[in-house]
Amino acid sequence: MLDYEYARQKMVDTHIARRGVRDERVLDAMREVPREVFVEEGFEEFAYEDSPLPISEGQTISQPLVVAHMIEAAEIEPADRVLEVGTGSGYAAAVMSRVAAEVFSIERHATLSEMARRRVEALGYRNVTMKIGDGSEGWPEQAPFDAILVAAGGPTLPPALKEQLEIGGRLVMPVGREPRNQRLVRVTRVAANRFEDEDLGGVMFVPLIGAQGWQPDLTVPPRPVHPISLPEQIAAAAEDLPRIDDPAFAETFDRFGDRRVVLLGEASHGTSEFYRARAAITRRLVEKHGFEIVAVEADWPDAAIVNRIARGLSPAPDGHPPFQRFPTWMWRNTDVAAFLEWLRAHNEGVGDIPSQVGFYGLDLYNMRGSIAAVLAYLDGADPQAAAIARQRYGCLTPWQNEPSTYGRAVLTSGYRKCEEGVVSQCRELLERSLGQSLHDDGLLDAAQNARLVASAEKYYRIMYYGGAESWNLRDRHMFETLDHLLASAGPSSRAVVWAHNSHVGDARETDMGRLRSELNIGQLCRERFGEAAALIGFGTHSGSVAAASDWDGDMEVKQVRPSLPESHERLCHDSGKSCCLLDFARADDLRQALAEPRLERFIGVIYRSETERLTHYAAAVLPRQFDAFVWFDRTTAVTPLTAFEPDRDAVPLTFPFGY
Ligand code: SAM
Repeated sequence: MLDYEYARQKMVDTHIARRGVRDERVLDAMREVPREVFVEEGFEEFAYEDSPLPISEGQTISQPLVVAHMIEAAEIEPADRVLEVGTGSGYAAAVMSRVAAEVFSIERHATLSEMARRRVEALGYRNVTMKIGDGSEGWPEQAPFDAILVAAGGPTLPPALKEQLEIGGRLVMPVGREPRNQRLVRVTRVAANRFEDEDLGGVMFVPLIGAQGWQPDLTVPPRPVHPISLPEQIAAAAEDLPRIDDPAFAETFDRFGDRRVVLLGEASHGTSEFYRARAAITRRLVEKHGFEIVAVEADWPDAAIVNRIARGLSPAPDGHPPFQRFPTWMWRNTDVAAFLEWLRAHNEGVGDIPSQVGFYGLDLYNMRGSIAAVLAYLDGADPQAAAIARQRYGCLTPWQNEPSTYGRAVLTSGYRKCEEGVVSQCRELLERSLGQSLHDDGLLDAAQNARLVASAEKYYRIMYYGGAESWNLRDRHMFETLDHLLASAGPSSRAVVWAHNSHVGDARETDMGRLRSELNIGQLCRERFGEAAALIGFGTHSGSVAAASDWDGDMEVKQVRPSLPESHERLCHDSGKSCCLLDFARADDLRQALAEPRLERFIGVIYRSETERLTHYAAAVLPRQFDAFVWFDRTTAVTPLTAFEPDRDAVPLTFPFGY
């Protein structure tokens, strides 16, 4: 009888090691796994001849050298989770189980999968899980994978497999436009939205048959994965929107009228179309669907003043106009003024206070006031630290990709030295203002006030240093405030939220969550309210925007650069639509087609167009980040209100800022 053990060692030495496979762990695995168990009955004597052999269903067990090359190319580490597409006999899965932590293997033929499972089980390899199915779509429930090996040749790289790779993960697969003639390709996912391909040479595999591979009848030319281009798919799924002031614009959003919370985003803090669209949708949600809370990304004390005036009450005790600190144009603009004018008229018509619509600030208690106080303090105490703080607050954004900014601040000893002074400055400010607008509003109770004071110290220290922790603290606070507002307005209460896309779009579907463990109010709303939350994003290709170059800087009207070629915005632009709604719940194909992360532009109160790619773009999976996306191809900057307008009646649009 043939000495299989001897034959195996000899094959590994002469056919595998001597022909270029260097990875000792791969060689050891090949020395260990008995290939004779995996070949068809009667073929055992050929098991160590280094050739592919026929197995049932017209398939093959791969040539050992090719198996070894593919596993080596996948650079599998002991802790890795690996996906194999095309279990076949189960041999390659068995070899990989000796070098990886876990192996998942999919086979489209049930008989092959069942035989393979029995073989692997009999050998006692417990870290292999098999299933029957179409592996061209991967195994999403088990993703992401550190490595994916495809043992059958496809016409193109299946997007689903690339999507299921971990960052840094490797996909090794034969690809070719002829069913049995391919190039072995290694694709490495170097970043969420960036892949690098390498050609590892010519191979001949059986075809990959499936949704993202070949059709079963191989005479039919390969079905393109996306039969039409992405912009064409966007155009096909888009619902055209009329002008914002046409009633039909807001009526399009009636579909969200039954939600508990509707979150309306914006792709910048200085774009008129986003404000006007949100105002129109909000009016419709209030008038037609009974929403009674408008909660915005603004400081509580300033919004509280607006809330009082919008309800026909006297303004704040100290009488100062709201939203006078940087970035003033975010709220003191003609679009917000027009909305608040409507809100006051609406509330007047409604009458009693409980039925009126309230306007609230969700942001960390007086965040902008605190930042102003920090800057004022540092300007006096340490101008160098003040410059750093300005830079840092300009970067208090989740999409910030410039690590040097944070690094520089930490390295400066002056910055650290000022911490005590800054924190006590902020505490004083908090205690002073808590004595004012918060108490008499009656909407945040004493317990919340006490919590606020108790956590103030920690909050100010975290905010001072910035980073993911401060972002999470802020968004958690925004969510808790929203939750509190809903709870105090009763179980049937409903809210519209206005905040930047970076707060509204589910952070888990963007670089924020994927790379930096940042969460946001959109994610928290989805987790709490499920389908009763609607996350609606907004986007644009080009135009103008109101923004500053640095925190505390003057507002400028800046030109928005045309969106980058590889971005979601560019795909929308190329769709030819000037203004439309993409409702992902009603566009299954588009959702699928946009399942890969792509760049998305985020402009806040700062816009630095010269470093745009680095400072304003991050990757996201748009149809999972948002439930719907509102597109304006060209947009314009908001018009700020002039500083002081003494005659409020003569210029009603300046309400409530002009008194
Ligand atoms: N690695 C296997 C081994 O060691 O025996 C060899 C696999 S054989 C070359 C390719 C296998 O891929 C075949 O068993 C074939 O049925 C399977 N296959 C083809 N298309 C597939 C698909 N879409 N999903 C899962 N398996 C597929």
